[in-house]
Amino acid sequence: MQAVPKAIVEKSRGTQLSVVGTRTVHLCSICDAGILETYHRNRPNPLMPDELPTIQPREQ
Ligand SMILES: [Zn+2]
Repeated sequence: MQAVPKAIVEKSRGTQLSVVGTRTVHLCSICDAGILETYHRNRPNPLMPDELPTIQPREQ
């Protein structure tokens, strides 16, 4: 298992996503190998959440 920081993302001002913090998640070196590879490639940035808050398109 590897402990990696995962970003906590919230919408700010309705249109922008911002990282408001991180929490530690534990990933399996085998089952989550792809995720860990992504994390190590983007270090020292935290891992992005699987699901980002949806940004609603503005109505024209
Ligand atoms: Zn595993």
